[in-house]
Amino acid sequence: MAYFDYNATAPLRPVARAAWLEAADGLWSNPSSPYRAAARARNALEDARARIAAAIGCPAGRVVFTSGATEGNNAMLRHFAGRPAGVSAVEHPSVRDAVRDLPEGSVTRIPVDAAGRVRMAGVREWLDSVQGGALLSVMAANNETGTLQPWHELARLCRERGIAFHCDAVQWIGRMPLAGLADCAFVTASAHKFGGPKGVGFLLIPADARDFRAQRGGEQEDSHRGGTENLPSILAMAAALNAACMSIEGTASAGVDEERDTVSHGDSVKDSYSAGVSAPRDAFVRTVIATIPGTEWVGQGPGETTGCLWNTAMLIMPRHRNTRWVARLDRLGFEVSTGSACATGKQGPSHVLAAMGIAPERAQRAVRISSGWDTPAMAWTDLARAFTLVWEELEAEAGGSGAMVIEV
Ligand code: PMP
Repeated sequence: MAYFDYNATAPLRPVARAAWLEAADGLWSNPSSPYRAAARARNALEDARARIAAAIGCPAGRVVFTSGATEGNNAMLRHFAGRPAGVSAVEHPSVRDAVRDLPEGSVTRIPVDAAGRVRMAGVREWLDSVQGGALLSVMAANNETGTLQPWHELARLCRERGIAFHCDAVQWIGRMPLAGLADCAFVTASAHKFGGPKGVGFLLIPADARDFRAQRGGEQEDSHRGGTENLPSILAMAAALNAACMSIEGTASAGVDEERDTVSHGDSVKDSYSAGVSAPRDAFVRTVIATIPGTEWVGQGPGETTGCLWNTAMLIMPRHRNTRWVARLDRLGFEVSTGSACATGKQGPSHVLAAMGIAPERAQRAVRISSGWDTPAMAWTDLARAFTLVWEELEAEAGGSGAMVIEV
């Protein structure tokens, strides 16, 4: 099988598996217990925290381990209950649904343009309407479309005005350079998107957020999150992040100056990195558009590729429902998706595509392809061939009638 659904989850990296097994066997003591074996577990936990903090470039005390990004996003939003919050219209359900618990009228949905990028005019208008103490939450990269948000700039604008900026960086961390993330007040991450285990992640909180409580209970995580830490998974996550960062740095270092902390630096790192690694995906999209006329790449203009995560392409096929494409490709050995795994089984079209102005009839033809840390470049070429085969099959079955065959 060729796996092309990394935005849903990634296979475990070998270094993460080894770290998990080693800790499960050798470091199973409760890190809070009072004897030497427990102190070893505690040291390993703090070492993982320090390594993650070093990768991001922030103090270790800002890293709170969680059960994943859904918990991180929910906990972060609860912290702001009662204060005004601005959220983009394309946030993940773990932000979008969690804001429903905030008081009526306190949440503003900020619209996006046709590419799925947050409208800066909408952001500025919202910023002008609120005082310090409010929260702006905009993701780094969209899980359905791969659209990149101008989060470096949003973090700067918020910092200047005393507004807390939260970035759901689940689809960014492990794929893109981390420069600038430490400038966000809150950042959510999830290990399983970058080759760590499922059910573990971390949340970056401001260094002075003494009162932040993800969940109440014991004094773990400096009292920010009660509950015995999932040490094997945390160590595996740190190993996975380290491996991901090493491959990013190897590719990103050429031609990037060392100066930090400016918006343009964050953007230039991002752009030069994307341009270097997106070639197999770009060639795939070009081939599919050439062989299946009428295919559209969601959120991308002709010739533009740096506004989208290098691993993702959401295509709207000219005909036939996406579920048929996915099932046929699966039979040929290619695992792709219709959109967000978190929304699979949900009725109705994706809120992300709807916010971008894509009508439900077109959204039903959207197929998401996303690669990851162990996708060989050749697999993209094979996938393009499989798309052509499926197209020919589906067209032959439809008899060239022009009708969209509805899946039963
Ligand atoms: N945010 C985004 C952007 C995501 O893609 C996901 C996972 N689909 C989440 C949050 C939730 O992450 P987790 O699976 O760790 O709960």
